Amino acid sequence: MAKININDMLTSYDKKNLRIATVCSHSSLQIFNGARKEGFKTLGISVGEQKKFYDAFPLGKPDEFFIVDKYKDILKHTEELRGKNAVVIPHGSFVEYLGADNFLKLNLPTFGNRNVLSWESDRNKERKWLEGAGLTMPQEIKDPKNINKPVIVKYHGAKGGKGFFIAKTYEEFQRRIKKNKSFTIQEFVMGTRYYLHYFYSPIQDNAYKLSKGSLQLLSMDRRDETTIDEVQRLGSIAELEELGIHPTFVVTGNIPIVMRESLLPKVFKMGEAVVEKSLDLFGGIIGTFCLETVVTEDLEFKVFEISARIVAGTNPYVAGSPYSELIQPDMSTGRRIAQEIKFAVKNNLLEKILS
Ligand code: AMP
Repeated sequence: MAKININDMLTSYDKKNLRIATVCSHSSLQIFNGARKEGFKTLGISVGEQKKFYDAFPLGKPDEFFIVDKYKDILKHTEELRGKNAVVIPHGSFVEYLGADNFLKLNLPTFGNRNVLSWESDRNKERKWLEGAGLTMPQEIKDPKNINKPVIVKYHGAKGGKGFFIAKTYEEFQRRIKKNKSFTIQEFVMGTRYYLHYFYSPIQDNAYKLSKGSLQLLSMDRRDETTIDEVQRLGSIAELEELGIHPTFVVTGNIPIVMRESLLPKVFKMGEAVVEKSLDLFGGIIGTFCLETVVTEDLEFKVFEISARIVAGTNPYVAGSPYSELIQPDMSTGRRIAQEIKFAVKNNLLEKILS
């Protein structure tokens, strides 16, 4: 694959008139709203037709729609998009719809370091990164015969927790596993879930200082997952399983949350370690990332996943969170991204935050 050179891509750009572009889904309302607040024009890439519901949210509606027949066609339109000075803000659905390989070869300036993708999507590399940074992850059970406590079985590439299941014994695992799919087995960590939304700037030193740049905590959420999060309305999980009804982990929404203030130093230590390790491993993560954690009764964090771009859990905070309010009023993650791009334009540092 031809290596993308960000400087080459930017030579034709009118840097005073960048246009913030993303796919119309996931966190796009927030991204467009944040870009608008920072004075950027916006472009919403949509399949088939303009998404009508944006009319109901004028401050989250893109200034212009760019219609494609299917998401993979974005690759065919990159020249046109470059002509519009489009800078892409990737979110989870953007990468999923386009496909990881296409995302890596997308010939458009993209916020963040695209090299991170292989480190978050390959579970072995992800573990090497996070454990290498000193974080504790749930124990992995390599051989299902060794299941001797509750585990969660995760299918590779399954989005939004689809198909994941809990097993407590080898027999239960055997009964439920889908044979032709690859999977990982993790200890099921008991505790409370916190999804931590960080922002790492390699080019600004005005927050929690790292060896290079600085780190912010913009917000946190808890995912609402159907049916596990409300299954108890019908009975205990054990009771329901006897009836053949198994809980599922499909994300349907996000709930705002704050944590005990005394845990915040640990939150920053974890974020710091993840960024520092990423600098060693692949030139550094850039911008938004999320650590998905469970806090145990001993107040220890176990991190079961990292997401290296804006997560939908930031959506409750279009007008700021209890944390971002302490940095700047009315600042969403979408707005923070736009600010970073604005700062980079002003200081001629765009190639440090785009790839
Ligand atoms: P993931 O796709 O890894 O984000 O997992 C989907 C959901 O499964 C999470 O949002 C959690 O609710 C749950 N989950 C994942 N891993 C674990 C774990 N090791 N222990 C307990 N719950 C987990």
